[in-house]
Parts: sequence; C-alpha cells; structure tokens
Amino acid sequence: MTPASSSLIDIATVSQIYAGRDGSPTWALRDVSLQIARGEFVCLIDPSGCGKTTLLQLIAGFLPPTRGAVTFHGRPIQGPGPERGVVFQDYALFAWMTARQNVEFGLRMRGQPRSLRRKRALDALTRVGLAHAADKYPHELSGGMRQRVAVARALVVEPEVLLMDEPFAAVDAMTRQTLQEDLLRLWRETGVSIVFVTHNIDEAAFLAQRVVVMGAHPGTIKADLTIAAPYPRDRGSSEFGALYAAISGRLADTERRAA
Ligand code: ADP
Repeated sequence: MTPASSSLIDIATVSQIYAGRDGSPTWALRDVSLQIARGEFVCLIDPSGCGKTTLLQLIAGFLPPTRGAVTFHGRPIQGPGPERGVVFQDYALFAWMTARQNVEFGLRMRGQPRSLRRKRALDALTRVGLAHAADKYPHELSGGMRQRVAVARALVVEPEVLLMDEPFAAVDAMTRQTLQEDLLRLWRETGVSIVFVTHNIDEAAFLAQRVVVMGAHPGTIKADLTIAAPYPRDRGSSEFGALYAAISGRLADTERRAA
C-alpha cells in the first residue's frame, strides 16, 4: 500500500488566518501539509503559538480552513463527527453528571437505548481503569481520574482518530507517566489513530511513532521525524536519551532560526 492510499487525514497546503481586533491578520498556519495514516500515533510539538491547536480544530471540524483542504478518508471535513474524538487539557466534563453519565452523553445524543449506552459507558470506563468510580461526580475525582473519564468519553463512540490537545499537561509528573502508559495500551488495543499535541519532549519521545516539529509566526512544519524505537520505551535507556536529544535538537534549530 502506498502512503497516500492508507492516509486517514490529509491536510493539503492549509493556511489559517485570524483577524486581530484591529483587523490585522495573524497567520496561525501557512501552507501546512501533513498526512496521517490509519492507526498512526503522531505528536505535534512546538514553541507556543505555532498553530497546533488550530490544526487540531481543523481536523476536529470546529473551523473551516481559510485556504487549502482538510480531508478525512478523502472527503472534505464539514464539521465535527463521532469518528473524530477530541480530548482537551481541561477535561471539559459536565460537573452535574457522574463519570458514567459523562461517558454516556455522546451515546444519548445519538439516541442509543438506555441499557446499551449504560453497558458501553461501563466498558469504556473499565478500559481506562475507572469502573469503580462510575457513580462519582467530577469534583470527587483526582485530575488524573478526570482525564481518564475524558478519554473514556472520547473512546466510547469508537472514533477512528483521537485528537488530544495537551491532555496530560495539568496533572502531576507521576500521574502523567501512568496516563501515557495507559494511552499506549488503549492505542494498541483499539487501533485508533492519535494526533497528540504536547510541549513536552519526553512525552513525545515516549509516545510517538512520528514527531512533527512546528515553528511559529507563521505556523509551519519544520521537521517530521519518524521514531522507529519499539514499545514500551525505557526512559532510562541510552536509545531513549538519543531520541530525546534528536527531538530537542530539531526544536532548538527551529527556535534558533526563528530568532
Ligand atoms: P498553539 O496551539 O500552537 O499555541 P494556536 O493555534 O492556539 O497555537 O494559535 C496560533 C496563532 O493564532 C497564535 O498567534 C494565536 O494568538 C492566534 N490565534 C489563535 N486563535 C485565534 C483567534 N480565534 N483569533 C485571533 N488569533 C488567534
């Protein structure tokens, strides 16, 4: 199979321009092209303001591109859809719903019968290790648990891609590592593609099959690194150190050139 025929998401020469308050344009993205294959785990990493969130929003269908095209299975993305699940940094759970009700929400919107959605929500919570907390409200859960609920909520509708915007940035370092390990397990079990935005080199080196380094003003792709290291990756190994150094070197190049 050629890379083009296995491409799930195709971002073709996309530019995104926002109008500032005074009417002046901000080029959040300029001529960005990126293909993401089925089942791939891609991290986008950057200095801030390089348009990573904009790129995720275009794939999610929250925004139409100013120029260029974003397609999914070869068809232009017209708006949000269940095949593209989104997980934000701030959980975005409904405070008045239990974990199970939060996970069930998308299924309810789609008119699934009560007994089926209850079962699917419990299955999704089990997958993220939270079956025991199904009847708790968000304020009764830790940050890491809330983020697991957000992942379960995205997974319950069986999306083809998960779009994750710095999902683990708000939790402590230990929890973050556990969440990363759990995400890798879920990725392998489900075959879902993942596009994961991070500022964290260690996180990208631990998770990704590909690391896309972006640069700012305007947002562009500076490097696209294939990471062949097998999973699970050992943070203490010399291979991991080399991987970290390679990503860090490309980021430093980008920042040096920008300066
Ligand atoms: P990142 O996620 O990499 O930090 P964003 O996609 O959020 O980048 O933003 C890229 C650029 O576009 C930034 O300069 C930001 O200020 C600008 N921008 C983002 N959203 C808007 C908006 N709605 N209106 C105006 N400018 C925006």
